[in-house]
Amino acid sequence: MNFYLGIDYGTSGARGIVIDEAACIQTEVRYPMEMLATHQWNSALWSLLAEIPESLRREIKAIAINGTSSTVLLCDATGKPVDVPLFYNDGRGAVVLEQLRSIAPSTHTVLSATSSLAKLLWMSQQPFFSEAKYFLHQADWLAFLLHGQLGISDYHNALKLGYDVEELKYPEWLEKLQIPIQLPQVLPPGTPIAEIRPEIAIKFCFRRNCLVCAGTTDSIAAFLASGAKSPGEAVTSLGSTLVLKLLSQKRLEDARYGIYSHRLGDLWLTGGASNTGGAVLQQFFTNAELESLSCEIDTSKASELDYYPLLKAGDRFPINDPNLPPRLEPRPDNPVEFLHGLLESIARIEAHGYELLQQMGADKLNLVYTAGGGAANSTWTAIRGRCLKVPVASSVNTEAAYGTALLAMRQVETGKQKN
Ligand code: ADP
Repeated sequence: MNFYLGIDYGTSGARGIVIDEAACIQTEVRYPMEMLATHQWNSALWSLLAEIPESLRREIKAIAINGTSSTVLLCDATGKPVDVPLFYNDGRGAVVLEQLRSIAPSTHTVLSATSSLAKLLWMSQQPFFSEAKYFLHQADWLAFLLHGQLGISDYHNALKLGYDVEELKYPEWLEKLQIPIQLPQVLPPGTPIAEIRPEIAIKFCFRRNCLVCAGTTDSIAAFLASGAKSPGEAVTSLGSTLVLKLLSQKRLEDARYGIYSHRLGDLWLTGGASNTGGAVLQQFFTNAELESLSCEIDTSKASELDYYPLLKAGDRFPINDPNLPPRLEPRPDNPVEFLHGLLESIARIEAHGYELLQQMGADKLNLVYTAGGGAANSTWTAIRGRCLKVPVASSVNTEAAYGTALLAMRQVETGKQKN
């Protein structure tokens, strides 16, 4: 029997999922702790591996790891970090944005204070930079711990470093920055890199030829887990915010709306994120109230209430207006009516978002999978189905670790699906 291990380093902890050749989950292990330093990333990895039953570890054919997008670090020639990592939401790169604007194309996704390239440029101006040999993403460094090869990444992680995912090379404008560092060699996500280091194979009873593969980012891994695979299929994440991802044959880029595309084999994963979503619901209702009040909503009737639920002014997608005010009036006395208005309005924003992606050239929407805390709300699913006019389903699985295990399996088994 062959098994595949996917490891997810998310915002609140790490998780590992082992699947068999039929993509069925064999075990799931967790390290439920925030990890702020690389020595904790290290401990989490060894603790996850140790928790997997030895009988499964002996049969694992390939391993892949996803990290949070734009969590990056510098390390020396031996792979030792020269300073603490910069996390996905670290905005220190804001001070180098002017410099980046002068060299990067005006709509490029690197032009954000939190992009990997903005972080690298900021790091290059710090005293510790002189000790650095390699710049790596979180997933690259964790995979290095297993396979021992430095300087390798994948084109999902490398997108926000400026890597050209269409031409599959670093663009010429990047050279103008003249940063004296080894940028990672970029492979298709899931590509086998090397066999696991012999000492790790011995310690944890892995096969000597267990392969360690190129990784991906947490949000793409969650998309892969959803079950969506054909153009026109989408995944909506109803978490604190509303995130849309639509699989398309055409690549979309529009910095005005925060729209960019990840490469997914021969397809493109287009998407946008709105500031509306569950965080606004939480402002008014507890999760228990959301459940009980939702049951009283008549989903066959559209609510007349027309809100734009936001915690504070400003949205980028599907309306690009940094001053867009929250619209939450009029507020009816009846909480069921109020919640109906909120759910209906978020569903309309979702529908508007998919319309925008299609207007820009994405494939026609035909099925929406759903992830996040709001996915369990069947009332909302019914309202969304009415607004979206396509079937709405739950994601097959919402765990990034599951998507990453699938990635390793597909790449190693077929080598065809060039995710
Ligand atoms: P995050 O983006 O923080 O990871 P989650 O995917 O965990 O978010 O989802 C949390 C959100 O789900 C909360 O903001 C909450 O309002 C929302 N939520 C939880 N239960 C329900 C429900 N029954 N109906 C609608 N929304 C819900």
